[in-house]
Amino acid sequence: MPSIADTVELLQSLENTGIVVEPTRCAVVRNRNASCRKCADACTSHAIVIEPESNAIRIEPENCVGCGTCTTACPTGALEARKPSDVALAEAAQAACSANEGTAVIACAPMYEAAKDLVDSSRLVRVGCLGRVEEGLIVSLAAHGATRVRLVCADCASCAQSHGIDMAETVVANANLLLELWGSDVRAKITPKFPSSVRKVRKDAYDSHRRAFFHDLGSEARDAVGVATDMALEKELGIESKTRLSPTQILAKLRVTDHGTLPHAVPAKRRRLLDALDALGKPADELASTRLFGQVVIDACACTACGMCAVFCPTGALTNEVDRDFNTLVHYPGACVQCRTCEDVCMKDCLSLSDEVFVRDVADGRVERYDLSASAQNANDHSLFGAAKRMIGGNIHD
Ligand code: SF4
Ligand code: SF4
Repeated sequence: MPSIADTVELLQSLENTGIVVEPTRCAVVRNRNASCRKCADACTSHAIVIEPESNAIRIEPENCVGCGTCTTACPTGALEARKPSDVALAEAAQAACSANEGTAVIACAPMYEAAKDLVDSSRLVRVGCLGRVEEGLIVSLAAHGATRVRLVCADCASCAQSHGIDMAETVVANANLLLELWGSDVRAKITPKFPSSVRKVRKDAYDSHRRAFFHDLGSEARDAVGVATDMALEKELGIESKTRLSPTQILAKLRVTDHGTLPHAVPAKRRRLLDALDALGKPADELASTRLFGQVVIDACACTACGMCAVFCPTGALTNEVDRDFNTLVHYPGACVQCRTCEDVCMKDCLSLSDEVFVRDVADGRVERYDLSASAQNANDHSLFGAAKRMIGGNIHD
């Protein structure tokens, strides 16, 4: 198994014009026992691969096509897309949706290339692969006036990045479930056909020149937004600088903070999804199972209140509140990204993660509080017991 420094270096080698890497957010860098391999599972081009023998991640940067599907899959925000960033893509999709009278159209690159002479490019946005689209984009389009969202793809089965459609299907199912629970009629759909509204309409020469002029202006504006957003991206993500840090410097950033945990960061895409859902209103009070949120379940009888789950949780969804009389584990499902690090690091196997959450809890920012004072007391008693046993040098029961 590679060392943590090796894993940092591997992840860094993935950084390219299409992807920003923040290794301190990667579950595996934070704790080598973390089982997350979602980026490798989703990668469309064998650039991120799981070694079958060791279950370690191997990265072959030369295979990366920058489609951004791994950034959709990464729950912690360790991988983020740039050119366009999520914000720039959302802004361009919103502008195209408004120009297309409320139908948001996002096309994969092969489909766009095949049809570009037939469609009005100011009415749609193009992504390398539909795997780049995440739930937050679909929900924010719905929250800002889209009446339907169409993801248009080519013949995925014959595409070199065919794997991306699996992610797109999962995302569409999740987004539609959230839209339904939040009372929106908007639905996203994957389709092999462009809606007729994006078809190019033949106009006279003057009109087409005029249209091209305005379209060019629009493209320039979108590019400018892209550049400006790209410059703001690292600030938005809380990433300090584009300067490549050494693995040692990165690991130095993973020091335990004054709160007794590793640094936390809620991914920007999670904040945008919550904002978009908030703009839709209040959801039904129902349980929903998605790839997005999680609910921690703790067997308080087996728990020793060691707090390791809170130490390694990358987002701060799990925190430990300790004072003289109380030891409480607090969990916020809205910040939980289902990375499962808490399950992986729990030494007593007393913590499990359910992907079913009450969506009203997410919307209201409700937290679950587990009083572990008795567990902590038991653990202390056991420690005292152990210490006493060591002191007298034998079996204390004898
Ligand atoms: S946290 Fe992100 S980068 Fe790390 S293994 Fe999981 S998906 Fe990959
Ligand atoms: S609570 Fe567990 S699954 Fe959720 S973000 Fe924290 S470590 Fe990951």
